[in-house]
Amino acid sequence: MKGRGDVDSVVSSMGVKLHYFEPSGRTIWTVVGKENEHWLDPDLPFCSCADYYYKAMTAGGECYHLKAVRTAKEQGKVETVKFSDSEFEIFIRALVKDLM
Ligand SMILES: [Zn+2]
Repeated sequence: MKGRGDVDSVVSSMGVKLHYFEPSGRTIWTVVGKENEHWLDPDLPFCSCADYYYKAMTAGGECYHLKAVRTAKEQGKVETVKFSDSEFEIFIRALVKDLM
């Protein structure tokens, strides 16, 4: 099980990334964890990691990526990367490919 230390290490290494597309204002959140990068939507909340599915199917609760997003927001440690809307399609394709 991932604990509190994982959340802190992700947040302090600026692993929480907000990809912001202009001018639409669309946002994509990713968290670079210990093994690889995960896509998540903190509003749903959803995360693409295995731990999220495990928690959703068992007792509930959040994976450490979702916790890391909330912590990073609270501490102002979100790495914001700006993109143009024309890059959105390419960005999503590359991200989905990485996730599969
Ligand atoms: Zn996760």
